[in-house]
Amino acid sequence: MHVAVLGAGYAGVSLVQQLESSLPDETELTLVDERDIHLVQHLLHRLIRKPHLEERITIPIDDLLTRAQFRQARVTGVDPDAGRVELSDGELSYDVGAVCLGAQTAFYGLPGVTEHATPLKRVEHARQIRTGFEAVQTEGGRAVVCGAGLSGIQVAGELAELAREAETNPSVVLLEQKSDIAPSFPAQFQDAVREELLDRGVEIRTDTSVSGADEAALELGADRLAYDQLIWTGGLTGQDALGDRPQVRATLRYGDRTFAVGDAARVIDADGNQTPATAQTAVRQASVAATNIERLSRHQEKSEGFEPQLKRYRYRPLGWLVSVGDGSVAQVGPSVVRGRAAEALKTTVGAGYLTSVGAVRDAAQYVRGEFSGSD
Ligand SMILES: Cc1cc2nc3c(=O)[nH]c(=O)nc-3n(C[C@H](O)[C@H](O)[C@H](O)COP(=O)(O)OP(=O)(O)OC[C@H]3O[C@@H](n4cnc5c(N)ncnc54)[C@H](O)[C@@H]3O)c2cc1C
Repeated sequence: MHVAVLGAGYAGVSLVQQLESSLPDETELTLVDERDIHLVQHLLHRLIRKPHLEERITIPIDDLLTRAQFRQARVTGVDPDAGRVELSDGELSYDVGAVCLGAQTAFYGLPGVTEHATPLKRVEHARQIRTGFEAVQTEGGRAVVCGAGLSGIQVAGELAELAREAETNPSVVLLEQKSDIAPSFPAQFQDAVREELLDRGVEIRTDTSVSGADEAALELGADRLAYDQLIWTGGLTGQDALGDRPQVRATLRYGDRTFAVGDAARVIDADGNQTPATAQTAVRQASVAATNIERLSRHQEKSEGFEPQLKRYRYRPLGWLVSVGDGSVAQVGPSVVRGRAAEALKTTVGAGYLTSVGAVRDAAQYVRGEFSGSD
């Protein structure tokens, strides 16, 4: 029996770690990723202002595994019914598997945007954004962040804080197509985040659609908005290996032998609702996938007649946390918390995640790095 997990982000690492303890020792377990580090992506925006945190939020994948084999290769195609994967360096077959490849930034084919904007999905992007913003600060220019979801809000917050620390006065503009920032979040949370951004001098423009870009300006329908730096956090699309993000139901079943977990899929939960693409949903879906992979592989091994009943994922939001520069906003139940209490919570959640995947030393260092505020 061979179980394969494709992608070593939140979903893939959480899933493999659970399978390492739940599957019998004889079951071969393989984790594939094109990179050899696990990126704690929900803290990536922090690197724009605090590049020293890079070593805390990039963890060698081998350090996170006890018995699974790690194969570093790019996935270029998946046949979820046959259990076959095309890789940059060959092929891989599995009896039961999971696609946890995350998503990539969607540019929606808007002319000029891919060429001129920097997304934020990788460490290299954070470095590029930091360097680009240095020039914007020197010249008192304008940085425009397009898309006011969790990543866009946090990027705008980091840029504004960076300018405040350097005592420069560039303009940071956050654009959103919908009528609110953090569009899918509760109104109270949106209001608190808006205030944190405005307090830091971020200019917010909602109901603003981008139709294209050239090297100097964004096209906003009939209007133009000049920029010196353009950052695009406007949405998600599927990885090239999968085409569009596949839609899966609450069992996370994506094919005869395959499950899809985390940002890689559009997951409809047991109540029929589409779940948001976040770290917390990826980790919780991974638990459901671990149970289902174990049931399906046991069934395949025994060649039983009827397929086992599969567990279903139900979305239960645990609350929300967003950082805006050195400030944070947390929604816990019906209450919105700001200031030091929310900041401490944000740091604890980052450290809690690192601890949960086993990077204990890094978790402690991360907490120190965040509280000392050192650069
Ligand atoms: C700046 C920013 C801030 C965020 N803030 C928050 C937040 O505050 N709270 C929150 O809950 N969420 C936040 N998110 C969202 C969160 O990071 C994602 O929802 C989460 O990373 C999804 O986990 P995943 O495992 O599905 O995918 P990922 O973490 O993206 O992992 C996918 C893995 O697959 C690998 N991979 C991809 N394609 C291939 C391929 N073709 N071949 C081989 N390997 C491949 C990648 O290298 C990666 O290791 C934020 C995201 C960003 C970018």
